[in-house]
Amino acid sequence: MLDLVLPLECGGCGRPSTRWCEQCAAALTVRSDEPHLVSPRLDPGVPVFSLGRYAGSRRRAIIELKERGRTDLVAPFGQALREGLAHLDTWGIVDSPAVLVPAPTRRWAARRRGGDPVTRVARAASSEVVQALRSKALARDSAGLSIPDRQRNVANRIRLVRAAHGDVVLVDDIITTGATATESVRVLQTTTGTRVLAVLTLAYA
Ligand SMILES: [Zn+2]
Repeated sequence: MLDLVLPLECGGCGRPSTRWCEQCAAALTVRSDEPHLVSPRLDPGVPVFSLGRYAGSRRRAIIELKERGRTDLVAPFGQALREGLAHLDTWGIVDSPAVLVPAPTRRWAARRRGGDPVTRVARAASSEVVQALRSKALARDSAGLSIPDRQRNVANRIRLVRAAHGDVVLVDDIITTGATATESVRVLQTTTGTRVLAVLTLAYA
């Protein structure tokens, strides 16, 4: 009966009668050698790690979370992020509890989507989250832009709105060219002397 009122389907595969199925939970599990080191075209100058490829149930769940307001998916992604951070701690790359800085979101976009999902996932993973960065209004959604256009799109468009002192980890949903991460790291490190230890994303494309 409730299914008729509110479509109940897995956020990762669309399977009915569950919000997050066992198969998708298994697909998001962080293995002992994860997160993987990835090499985006634009190098932010700090190690970039990602929890998995932007494909399959991970991709679908990120779209559901970002575009369709499936906030119930914050919890599984938050758990995966927390496990990924624990591995980075074990490997000596970050210290726990890591201070997380979510990559910037345009304010109107965050409002439209019912809150910035990256920040929500970061908060689910760590009690130390500083929303230090904001993207200026003119920055376009980078989907569909070429790499030089992406770089131009974010250059000087990310600003510091809150100081994030000490060592931080930049967190984002998807890393593609690395343009946003590179500019975010630059702003964090040149503006406040904050040290960015790593970038960690939910997916890489
Ligand atoms: Zn599923």
